[in-house]
This record gives sequence, structure tokens and C-alpha cells, in this order.
Amino acid sequence: MTLKVAIVGSGPAGFYTADALLKADPACQIDIIDRLPTPYGLIRFGVAPDHEKTKNVMRGFARTASNERVNFYGDVDIGEALSLDELREMYDAVVLAVGAAHDRKLGIPGEEKAGVVGSASFVNWYNAHPDFVDRTPDLDTSSVVIIGAGNVAIDVARVLVKTPAEMAATDLPDYAAEPIHGAPISDVYMVARRGPVEAKFTNVELREMGHLEQCVPQVSAADLPDEVTGEMSDRDRRVREKNLGTLRTFADREADEMPKRVHFVFFASPVEILGGERVEAVRFERTRVENGRAVGTGEHFEIACGLVVAAVGYLSMPVDGAPFDHKWGVVVNDAGRVGPGLYAVGWIKRGPTGVIGTNKPDGRDAAQQILDDLGAAGGGKPGREALEALLRTRGRRWVDLDDWRRIEAAEIDAAAEGAPRKKLYRREDFLAVLDEQRAAG
Ligand code: NAP
Repeated sequence: MTLKVAIVGSGPAGFYTADALLKADPACQIDIIDRLPTPYGLIRFGVAPDHEKTKNVMRGFARTASNERVNFYGDVDIGEALSLDELREMYDAVVLAVGAAHDRKLGIPGEEKAGVVGSASFVNWYNAHPDFVDRTPDLDTSSVVIIGAGNVAIDVARVLVKTPAEMAATDLPDYAAEPIHGAPISDVYMVARRGPVEAKFTNVELREMGHLEQCVPQVSAADLPDEVTGEMSDRDRRVREKNLGTLRTFADREADEMPKRVHFVFFASPVEILGGERVEAVRFERTRVENGRAVGTGEHFEIACGLVVAAVGYLSMPVDGAPFDHKWGVVVNDAGRVGPGLYAVGWIKRGPTGVIGTNKPDGRDAAQQILDDLGAAGGGKPGREALEALLRTRGRRWVDLDDWRRIEAAEIDAAAEGAPRKKLYRREDFLAVLDEQRAAG
């Protein structure tokens, strides 16, 4: 007998799990299922369009997908095409790798006003996620406030201020490039509720802000401490010292050096979004950091803006048929084990933190748990035969690996000079490519 495993979600956590399973059990059969027609999840829809090198991990994932023991089922929504319970009936083990694709809310008055968007929606929009391509934000403003001081906040700021030339060799879709590059944005305020030492961005991303063609970073020297103090690991101290060093170089830059500015504003917690139906400003309370926490000082100020991007973290949604911890926004799990034959990896297991590679150990742990719990022989469940039979009964077509390769080839063919691909994003366009190829072949 062969162990049959279904992995729900084809982002990094899903692929690292498949990879680890292939290494751990030379005979297992793995099916990677995704609700979208395209694989790679966050790599395709989360990584910034101008960070193509970060997407190189897709090559390794493509090798994993090509393994003869792995099948891909795209455009199959677990919860819609079939239930999680049905999937568990068919497979010895099911691994949830569905990530955290939604926006965390700010939880302050005025958040529902037009012109306030979450970073997940905004990033998905400029990355051609099929569910978000029509959510064009109104960018007709000179001033944008980004709330949060993580790498997503930096990505959003950078994409908003880079020139068309800086974005030419990227897969930023035309429908997003036009409004972004036509927007009158001159000032982007990235506002952190704590200080520069507590900021979450990594140094490479921060440094990049000092090397933009038309935009100069700004920060008040008064917000930058002389040294990093407090208890922390040596590694954390080094990262924070590097960030401080980079921010010091920003403090020396002149505001009028360039037509655009990104302002790093620290010690300011958002308390209200102001305006009528549309946002006109954000009201902040100044803070100080006590024992690592932002504490309000009672002093308030406002930043006028026509767009607010809340980059305060992502959120997972419950998966029907799996227990969910609403407080922590994760599937209830014991180090990855959810229930008999059910496992979780990545952001749905441990929350939306860490970089792409942080998912690797999750994959290794899940592979080990599956083998420890079920053994390499599995429980004799039918796996993909039953899945395909059920999908056919329900009249569902799926995107397999060859189909995806055709879509990928069409995207590469259509790319402008120097750009890696021109993403397809409409269901009918995906299907048109597949139908054309099927008719031709
Ligand atoms: P993040 O790193 O957790 O940053 C979230 C930011 O939002 C923090 O500055 C946080 O401040 C702030 N925040 C949270 N709630 C807030 C509130 N109510 N009011 C004001 N500020 C609030 O999350 P992320 O930027 O979404 O990134 C998610 C993960 O993806 C991270 O691990 C990140 O490193 C990774 N990522 C990596 C890259 C890259 O490597 N290039 C690119 C994108 C994303 P506090 O610290 O005070 O809570």
C-alpha cells in the first residue's frame, strides 16, 4: 500500500511539505490542491513584483511538482468543489496549507471609509490575484498613509513610489501600473506605533528605500536612539543595529532632493480615520515604548491623506470542517497535528509571521508526523482516483500540471522585453489558453 497525502494550498508551506514528504517516504503519493488555477500562492501574489529574485524558490517548487509521485489540482476549492470531510475520506492524510490571505483590521473608527484598504487586498490587487484585480483603489492623491512598519508596509511604499523605468522589468500588471504611475503621489508616510528599534522590517528591504530613483527617505533624527538597549538575542540586536544605522543615513537626506518622499514616522498609534465618506486624514496619538509596548502620551496629531493602507498583518480564515482558534487566527493544532489524519503547516498553523523559508521546518515536521502516525503504508485510502472520480461526477474541470505549464508559457510569451511574465488573471483567459492549446494539441 502507498501513503496518499492531499495538501490543500500550493504556497510555500504546501510545497515545502510535499518536498519533505518526497524525501521522507520514497513511495508516497502527493496531490497538491489549490482553489486558484495557478500554483505558488504567496510567491505569486504576495512577493513584490520588483523582487523577482525572491520568486526563484518557484524553480524548486516546479521541480517538486514535476516529480512523478506529485499531481497538481488547480481551480479546486476545498469547501466548494468538495468538502474537507470528503477529502479526508479519500486520503490517508490531509495537510492544510491555506495561509493567511486576508486583512487584519485596525479596529479604529472610520476604518470603513472609502480610501482605506488593507495591505493583503492592496498587494493582491497589484499582484494580479484573480479575486482582487477589479478592486482598483483611488490613487488620486498626493499623500498616502501606510500604517505598520513591517516588510509589507515597505513593499507597498516602494511599489507606490518607484518610477515606470524601475518597474519595467517586473510583472506588475498594466491595469495596476497605469493608475500607480499616473497618480500624483508625492509623500508616503509609513507610521509605526513603536520605535525604530522595534520596527519589523528587515535591513535589505529598508536599505533599498535609500536607493530609489525619484524618492528620498525621510526620518526625524530625534526618533533615533544612540544605541539598541534591552534584552534580546545577538541576532536580533544585530538586525536592529543595522536598521538604526540605515535610518541614520536617511536622517541626513534632504526632503527636496527628489520629487517624492517616504517618511518613516515612529511612536504614533492610529486612533481614528477622519473625513466624510472618503478618508481625508488619519489622527494619531504619540506614544512612548515601555517594556516593549506602545503607551499613549495623550498628545495627538493628524496626517492629511487620500489613501490609507493598513499593513498591520494578515489574517487566516476558518476552514470548514477544521477547528479554528479565533483569538489567534489559526487552526487549532498541537504542533501541527489537528485531528486524525489532519495536519496544518505555515501561517494557518502558526500565524502570519516569518519569511518564505520559515515554512521549511513546518513541512519537515508535518512529513515526520504523518509517517510517525500512519506509517509509509498509509491506511489504504484511494487518494487521487477517488478525487478525480468525484470531480468528474460533479462536472468539475481542474488545472493539472501540464495545464499550468501551458499557462506559464503563455505568460512568459506575452511578457514585455525584460519582464519575467505577463500574468493572466481572468478565469476566461486561463481557460482560453487551455482550450486553444488543447485544440491545437
Ligand atoms: P509584520 O511584520 O507583523 O508587521 C506588522 C506591522 O504592523 C508591525 O509594525 C506592527 O507593529 C504593526 N501593527 C500591528 N497592529 C497594529 C495596529 N493595530 N496599529 C498600528 N500598527 C499595528 O507583518 P507584515 O508586514 O504583514 O509581514 C508579514 C510577514 O511576511 C512578516 O514576517 C514579514 O517579514 C514577511 N514578509 C517578508 C518580506 C521580505 O522578506 N521581503 C516581504 C513581505 C513580507 P508592532 O510591531 O508594534 O505590533
